[in-house]
Amino acid sequence: MMTAPLFERLAIVGLGLIGSSLARRVRQDGCAGELVAYDASPAVRARVAELGIADRVAETGADAVRDADCVVLCVPVGAMGSTAADLLPHMKPGAILSDVGSTKQSVIETIRPLLPDGIAFVPAHPLAGTEYSGPDSGFPTLFEGRWTLLTPPEDGDPDATAQVAALWRSCGAMTREMDPAHHDRVLAIVSHLPHLLAFTICGTADDLEGESRSEVLQFAASGFRDFTRIAASDPVMWRDVFLNNREALLEMLARFTEDAQAMARAIRWGDEDFIVDRIERGRRIRRSLIEIRQA
Ligand code: NAP
Repeated sequence: MMTAPLFERLAIVGLGLIGSSLARRVRQDGCAGELVAYDASPAVRARVAELGIADRVAETGADAVRDADCVVLCVPVGAMGSTAADLLPHMKPGAILSDVGSTKQSVIETIRPLLPDGIAFVPAHPLAGTEYSGPDSGFPTLFEGRWTLLTPPEDGDPDATAQVAALWRSCGAMTREMDPAHHDRVLAIVSHLPHLLAFTICGTADDLEGESRSEVLQFAASGFRDFTRIAASDPVMWRDVFLNNREALLEMLARFTEDAQAMARAIRWGDEDFIVDRIERGRRIRRSLIEIRQA
């Protein structure tokens, strides 16, 4: 049975991992009458045209968003404000602006003052990704079975929020609304701190001298290998995430450092019970993740 598309025209701005995955899924499911893509990089625009993952690749941001019913910003968090400032004057009244940024408070603070009357802003964050970036790295099932968190303002337009939620559900995601500050604290512990640890442990291994360093690579056990996968993530994206979720991330890092010191003390004094308790907590968390199919 044919159903009407969610949006007559949807524009995706920024065609990296997230933007190109969204484009692929939208094209596959037909939830937009027309899908227009725009990326600041001419090389990315050419590649998106070659891949055929949008109905049209616009040469300017203004052209991409004109007449769009919904515009989704999929650029790094640090570029959200300038991108929104460039595009908003060209959006039609009644249109929706959304984003996929990994931090929410900073994006809301930069975009809200720019919003003209008649444009609804629905911030969103799909909790899905890989360590790869660019238009070739995307795939249509990236959001399948994953959460997309929506952080609409209290005085926001509920219809616009419902439409953006429907867009993500059509991509296979589960959706939930959350307060932006709460979002940033939760993401600091489940995503931002683990990335910080991965970048740091790879740096520590890289600083080892000569022989030990080459042995680290040669005999990398699964623990270190798993960290290197996370550490292969895009530097610009993660620089922006760290700087835009500064307070929550530093708070989680301080808590982690205290807990790591407690573990160090237990190891120093041979406190077997403490060590076993910590390891068992880790195993319980892993089992719970498997049970709720988020492992
Ligand atoms: P990505 O693969 O690096 O793609 C970002 C794309 O945006 C690149 O093609 C980039 O072009 C382009 N771009 C940068 N500034 C732009 C501008 N002003 N106007 C138009 N295009 C611009 O990054 P991504 O992983 O898809 O991340 C995109 C967003 O999704 C970020 O806000 C990130 O926080 C969020 N996110 C990422 C993940 C993840 O795991 N990767 C998960 C959830 C959400 P250039 O390469 O030429 O700069």
